[in-house]
Amino acid sequence: MPHPPIGAIDCDIHPAVPNLKALLPYLDDHWRDMVVQRGVHELDSISYPKNAPVTARPDWKPELGKAGQDLGRLQKEALDGFQTKFAICNCLYGVQLLYTEDMAYAFARAVNDWMVSEWLDKDERLRASIVVPPQNPDYAAAEIERMSNDRRFVQVLMLVMDEMPLGRRRYWPIYRAAERCGLPIGIHAGSAYRHPVTSVGWPTYYAEDSAAQSQAFQTTLTSLITEGVFAEFPDLKVVFLESGFAWLPSHLWRLGKFWRGLRMETPWVDRHPLEIAKDHLRLTIQPSDAPPKPEDLEKLINHFDSDEMLLFSSDYPHWHYEGTNAIPNGISEALTNKMCYDNPLKTYPRLKEAVT
Ligand code: ZN
Repeated sequence: MPHPPIGAIDCDIHPAVPNLKALLPYLDDHWRDMVVQRGVHELDSISYPKNAPVTARPDWKPELGKAGQDLGRLQKEALDGFQTKFAICNCLYGVQLLYTEDMAYAFARAVNDWMVSEWLDKDERLRASIVVPPQNPDYAAAEIERMSNDRRFVQVLMLVMDEMPLGRRRYWPIYRAAERCGLPIGIHAGSAYRHPVTSVGWPTYYAEDSAAQSQAFQTTLTSLITEGVFAEFPDLKVVFLESGFAWLPSHLWRLGKFWRGLRMETPWVDRHPLEIAKDHLRLTIQPSDAPPKPEDLEKLINHFDSDEMLLFSSDYPHWHYEGTNAIPNGISEALTNKMCYDNPLKTYPRLKEAVT
C-alpha cells in the first residue's frame, strides 16, 4: 500500500478517554456525584477488545493505558506520522450504550468539553465530531446547537447500530439540527447493543461482530434512502466511518432492483439509490476491504461511478496496515489526491473555510 501525500486530511482518528476519572471535571456537580456515589463503571466501547492486535498496532500501543489516550504520541504517530493537515477526532466512549437518556446527555456534554480542552485547544491540526446521545434526539439536537458554535467541530457522530434503523423519523431532529448547522452526520461502526449485531441473532466471537458491521451499514444506507432522509434534508451529507466500501456497488444494485419493482411505496425516492448515494454518501477507506489485486480494485472503483465518495482515513490507532501505507493498492494518483484533499474539503464545509 502507498502512503498518503503530505498535507492530507485524515477523516477518522481515535483519541481515547483514558478512564472515567478523566471526565469528572467536565461533569456538573449532580452527575459527578452520581458517578461517584453509584460507582458507575467505565463506558468503553465494547467492539474493540482491549488487548487484541486489531485494537492497536504494537508500535502504537503504550505500555500502560489505552492506545490513543496520549496527545504527544498521537501528534507524533498520527499527525506527524502521516503529515496530515487536519485530522478528525471521533471519540468512541460508549455514551450510546447507556439506558438513561439524562446520563447519556451528561456524558456526551462531558466528552465534547473534554475534547475541546484536552485535544482541540492543544493542536490546531485537530478537528472533532460532536458526540450526541441518540437515546434522546431532542437532547442530541440541543448538543449539536451548543457545540456547533465552535467551528473546530466539523461533524456529528453516531453509531451504526442503535435502537432502530437510523432512517426512522425518530432521528430526524438530529438530522435537522445537523443540516441547519452545516454539519455532516458521521456514522461509525459500533453498536448500542440493543439488538444482535447480525440479522440472524447473537454471534459468539468478536470476529463475527466485526464482520457483521458492513451488514449494518448496508441496512442503514437502505433505511436512510427509503425513509426519505435525503428528500427531507437535501443538504445533508452522511459519512460512513470504518464501514468498508467494497460492498457498496453490489448492495446498491440489489437495492436498485427492488426499488424499481416497489417504488410505488416510496414516491420520495425519485432516483436510483446509486444516484442518491453519489450525492449524499461518503465513506472512509480504513479498514479497507479492497480486493488484494490492484486491477480488481480498479474495476470495483469504476462501479462507484463517482470519484467523490471516498475519504482518506488512517483509523489511528487501529491496526490495518504497516507504517503509514494507508492507501490501498490500485487507487490511482488522481483518486488518491481527491480522497486526501478535495473530497474531505467538499464534505466538510468547516474544513474548507479553514483553508481559504
Ligand atoms: Zn474509526
